[in-house]
Amino acid sequence: MKEEHSQYKTCKACGHTDERAISELDAAFEERRIWSDPCSKCGSKDISSSGSSMPSVNRAVLEEWSRNDELMILSQDEDLILGEGENLPLLEEFLRKETTLPSKKVTLLSAICVVVYDNTPDEDDDKEINDEFARNAIDVLVRNESIFAELDDTYICDYIKDVVYPKIGKSKKTNT
Ligand SMILES: [Zn+2]
Repeated sequence: MKEEHSQYKTCKACGHTDERAISELDAAFEERRIWSDPCSKCGSKDISSSGSSMPSVNRAVLEEWSRNDELMILSQDEDLILGEGENLPLLEEFLRKETTLPSKKVTLLSAICVVVYDNTPDEDDDKEINDEFARNAIDVLVRNESIFAELDDTYICDYIKDVVYPKIGKSKKTNT
């Protein structure tokens, strides 16, 4: 059964809101969510607001995403979206897949680091953490050290590396 997602856009000229249903794989990717049809009421193309529900990260979505450099779930902070403890088995699966593009592997690695980071207590200690997620994510990183070494990790943010790398016995590469 294919999950359907709803999308809306509100016309800037007349205030009318158009809605439509889109497939899970259309809803999943920024490029495919683009809706450039004119307002159904007045024909204007100016939009005051728009949005759509986003599917959860699943195998079908990652299957498309991992092979196509043009497809993005989000153009910014994609690793933060992917980096949820529940996603770890899928993140590792696609990290190890031969068909996954190197650029996507870096995002997956970063997402796994984000899971460690998000579940490590910080100085303020006011965030909710899950020890098991952190441990599992560290295990994934250690298990896949060889893949890690092959990739350019400059995409991974320094503040994340500072917390995560010591936990996996890795030093931060310097760009000299
Ligand atoms: Zn309109």
